[in-house]
Amino acid sequence: MPEEAREQLGLRTLEDISALILQSHDLQETLDNIVHLVAKRMSSDVCSIYLLEEDGETLRLHATRGLSRLSVGITMKISEGLTGLAVQQRGVVATDNAPRHPRYKYFRKTKEEKVLSFLGVPFFERDNPIGVLVIQNREARTFTAQEISAVSTIAWQISSIISNAKLLDSVRKKEEERAFYAAEVDRLRKNGVLKDTTRASRRPPSSAALTGIGISPGFALGKVSILHHRGPTEAAVLERARPRAEELNMFHQALEKARIHTIYMEKRMGEILSEADAAIFHSHLMILEDRGFIAKITALIEDGVGAHRAVNQVVEAYVSAFARMEDPYLRERSADMEDIGRRICDALNGHSKHRERLRDDRIIVARELLPSDLAIMDHGKVIGIATEKGNQNAHAAIMARALGIPAVFGVEGLMKRVGVRSEVVVDGNSGCVYVNPDQSVKQEYVRLQGDYDQRQRALEEIRDLPAQTPDGCTVSLLANIGLLSDLKVAQLHGAEGVGLYRTEFPFMTRSSFPGRQVQAAIYRKIIEGFPGLPVNIRTLDIGGDKELSYFPHPKEDNPFLGWRSMRLSLDREDILREQLAAVLIASGSGRCNLMFPMISGVDEVRRIKGILEQVKDELRREGRAFDPEIGLGVMVELPAAVLVADMLVKEVDYLSIGTNDLIQYTLACDRNNPRVRKWYDPYHPAVLHSIKRVADAAADAGKPASLCGEMAGEPINAVLLMGLGLRSFSLSAPNIPRVKEAVRRIPLERAQQIGERVLGMESAQSIRRFLEATQRELGL
Ligand code: PEP
Ligand code: MG
Repeated sequence: MPEEAREQLGLRTLEDISALILQSHDLQETLDNIVHLVAKRMSSDVCSIYLLEEDGETLRLHATRGLSRLSVGITMKISEGLTGLAVQQRGVVATDNAPRHPRYKYFRKTKEEKVLSFLGVPFFERDNPIGVLVIQNREARTFTAQEISAVSTIAWQISSIISNAKLLDSVRKKEEERAFYAAEVDRLRKNGVLKDTTRASRRPPSSAALTGIGISPGFALGKVSILHHRGPTEAAVLERARPRAEELNMFHQALEKARIHTIYMEKRMGEILSEADAAIFHSHLMILEDRGFIAKITALIEDGVGAHRAVNQVVEAYVSAFARMEDPYLRERSADMEDIGRRICDALNGHSKHRERLRDDRIIVARELLPSDLAIMDHGKVIGIATEKGNQNAHAAIMARALGIPAVFGVEGLMKRVGVRSEVVVDGNSGCVYVNPDQSVKQEYVRLQGDYDQRQRALEEIRDLPAQTPDGCTVSLLANIGLLSDLKVAQLHGAEGVGLYRTEFPFMTRSSFPGRQVQAAIYRKIIEGFPGLPVNIRTLDIGGDKELSYFPHPKEDNPFLGWRSMRLSLDREDILREQLAAVLIASGSGRCNLMFPMISGVDEVRRIKGILEQVKDELRREGRAFDPEIGLGVMVELPAAVLVADMLVKEVDYLSIGTNDLIQYTLACDRNNPRVRKWYDPYHPAVLHSIKRVADAAADAGKPASLCGEMAGEPINAVLLMGLGLRSFSLSAPNIPRVKEAVRRIPLERAQQIGERVLGMESAQSIRRFLEATQRELGL
């Protein structure tokens, strides 16, 4: 059989095994299916799976094709036979004449006919052998390196199936134990043995996982500190109304204290993160100084309402107005409003701080975490965060990410499950939270944490090495950034520049449009953060799901197909001109490029270039220095841009594919709508062919094309995209080391084979299966 055909065969088998796993309902069924499939695909007379018993000495036959069915269940010691040898030497045993091998032993119980060739591949769980996959043939057959490699990958897959099955089994047992315990308590209570109903109904601590949204990666295991927000909600406080003048006076004093507190937090966050990120608190300050906000409260107090109730009522009205917003970013602003209200009420109650100092490392558990909670915490002692409310867009989420604290938000029922003495595991990678985990879960997480740390350390070692494939192809890995504090994160992870700076973030954290000087100062900081390296500044990309509180957006039925991004900038030339001027003013401080989002054709690009030239002239007249040769790039995010990529690339210096939007527009699937998530698929052939088309168009024009969507953050995707012709990626900085490791390990030639194979496939599902199998095979 030609080598290529053999390789294909191995991969096809892997694809099918992935499908089998999905379809099978229990371990035995899966193992039976695997031996049948492997025997058929490898044209072998016998294929068997042996698993090692707990004693570590005995192998038991669990599934076979070719040996007597009655032999399933037979055991053998690892000290006997070739299968045992594979376990003992923890490696592959291959021979084309088994009976001649010194360790050969004939097991009568298997009723095995005389077989000549033998291939035994052990598989492992955390470095410990747990079984052997055996292939045997009647005729003498030499197994090629490729066949052995394919069988090894299959064996690896079997080990993960078995680990999963064991885990599920232990969870099932736990559930059964819990049900038994509950039934037993019930029985005792009915029999009158247990009188104390509160005790009797108290369940043992559950270790089942609660799920939420992983908003900041990493793991934490530890004791909790529960954050209870003191509010003005106690009826007695709300009803208390002193004379009007007194209540008014109290309110104004509290307002002043809240302002001072907010200034303190802005300063503290500015020191920890960056000034721009601390602007979250600046916007709080603006509200605390907003005449309309204050007038609404004082009017209520003058009507005889107590200060507490007045603050509560006005804040609640704002909170519910924000909560009704369609835009997820604005919806999250209701948390900021609550935060502000709480700060005033704390001041009214005479509390200057609403937190306890943490004496040791703790996981913070709260119904909701507000920016001010996080601002005044002792960050060194907060090892994890879990909350019931909130999502990716919450300011506290942005801050947790910037501080590198593992966090899971949006965990329903969390507060009911956690007590002061609880221990909690927070898994910011998967979004799982375990309350009072049992020993096995804890051990698993200690191990995961260890692996994670070890991996992070290993990745740190390659931080300053180039992203170069073993066959000499260099790939650029740049960072996507939004907040100024992302800059530090990007530098830390070895980013070779900024592939995408989303300028809407500094606009979002303010309460009015920043002028060109303020903008230029921010852009300069980013450019100076990467001396000699490219920084691609994208013009404002608001609309769709990103709005500015101070820039009222018209209500639209289809905001993503509406007045967004470059369309808005071209209609509001004043905003665009101000931004272009700011980028130009900053451009002299390093290598800076301007990038334009949501472009559909050359007309827009030509118009922007015209405006840019006018702004340059204006700056020249003012005698301002700037880089006259500033590079220009177009983001390819619309199917239209894909189709005219060859025309667009002639107009600019480079193309940058924004897959987050390209997927949504190609597949007509809102990127934020969970109901259509399954249709939002980066592996849809239409998406992959679009990427290929853009890469080819840029290559034909001799200009670079990069990709800055989330897609590039997965190592297997980066390998695939390399195979499709891309040589530059911009990604969320924490993903850079993983992607670099993959690039440094996988030859371009292999990536190209993967790319070609995928382009030949017609279904997203088979592409996904193929890539999952390839990912395992490559150990990514
Ligand atoms: C994209 O659309 O892929 C992109 C990078 O831009 P954003 O996610 O900011 O829309
Ligand atoms: Mg986009």
